[in-house]
Amino acid sequence: MKVGVFSTKSYDRTFLEAANVDGQHDLVFFEPRLTLETSVLATGLTAICAFVNDQLDASVLSAIAQKGVRLIALRSAGFNHVDLAAARDLELTLLRVPAYSPYAVAEHAVALILCLNRKIHRAYNRVREDNFSLEGLLGFDLHGRTVGIVGTGKIGALTAKIMHGFGCRLVGYDVSQNPDCLVMGMEYVSLPELFATSDIVSLHCPLMPETYHLINAEAVNQMKPGLILINTSRGQLIDTKAVTKGLKSGKIGYLGLDVYEQESDLFFEDLSNQVIQDDVFQRLLTFPNVLITGHQAFFTEDALRNIATTTIANITDFEQGRPCPNQVSLDQVQK
Ligand code: NAD
Repeated sequence: MKVGVFSTKSYDRTFLEAANVDGQHDLVFFEPRLTLETSVLATGLTAICAFVNDQLDASVLSAIAQKGVRLIALRSAGFNHVDLAAARDLELTLLRVPAYSPYAVAEHAVALILCLNRKIHRAYNRVREDNFSLEGLLGFDLHGRTVGIVGTGKIGALTAKIMHGFGCRLVGYDVSQNPDCLVMGMEYVSLPELFATSDIVSLHCPLMPETYHLINAEAVNQMKPGLILINTSRGQLIDTKAVTKGLKSGKIGYLGLDVYEQESDLFFEDLSNQVIQDDVFQRLLTFPNVLITGHQAFFTEDALRNIATTTIANITDFEQGRPCPNQVSLDQVQK
């Protein structure tokens, strides 16, 4: 099948070509993101393969469907960037990679916690300048502290498991309880209680209308003063302006982000020679207690191998008319 791979980076190409055994699919690699302007590249393709910041709104879906595209194979688990109603109306098939390495993301969330708490990012720079002063580097023991996990699915449960290994107390919030977390002694509480009692809050729920700006001014107000807030899930879970206010007042002690609500204008590109126009993002970078990575939590060899293997298998299932276990059901989507 002829597949246009949008937002291709060198690593996507390496892993997808390795998974595309015997060249079973004709993969055409495009560096640009999929947008209305670049949708012209989909001419003559049966499938497109997209990543998290490709635009899959109604106008783009309609444009690519008119060009003959029948399948969207996402290289991600999340599909919040796809207009599901439009995909259904255009009779497009939507496939995804539901789990490729929850370990990769959970381990990155913990890396952000450890780095922020022990100020490794600051110590690294100091020591390179022969500054061995410890002033300002004081951390705290994780042992005995309370960790609040919002969204206790695959990644949230693994993050909880690692933090449990450090000797932390676990509290959780989810619409359904995970038995693995209950076994670890996690106590499920309301969101306000989780914010009020946690020394560390880590977000692992999907982005949906109900979770948009889950961390807003009211939530910040409810938080235990000085807490560490970590988001490796989706940027729009956080109202960045409200969190910036929380950082300025000291209510939020540390912020670790792998995702950002306006990341599609920034992440995955080298913008080091440009002037960043996003003042909200630039303000965040001025805080010593904020650590941002550019959506790299998933970025391990194991995860990329799994993403590529599952994506190729998904496309093959579609081509051969087999039911695909990774199909996103569009039947229940509201008009
Ligand atoms: P999952 O489906 O296994 O778990 C999500 C959990 O969130 C489920 O337990 C679900 O019940 C819960 N949930 C649903 N609605 C909720 C609500 N309103 N409030 C609280 N919890 C709610 O998903 P996962 O594999 O653990 O992934 C979690 C998120 O991580 C994904 O949605 C994705 O956005 C993000 N992610 C980020 C990266 C990255 O590189 N930064 C990579 C993969 C996934």
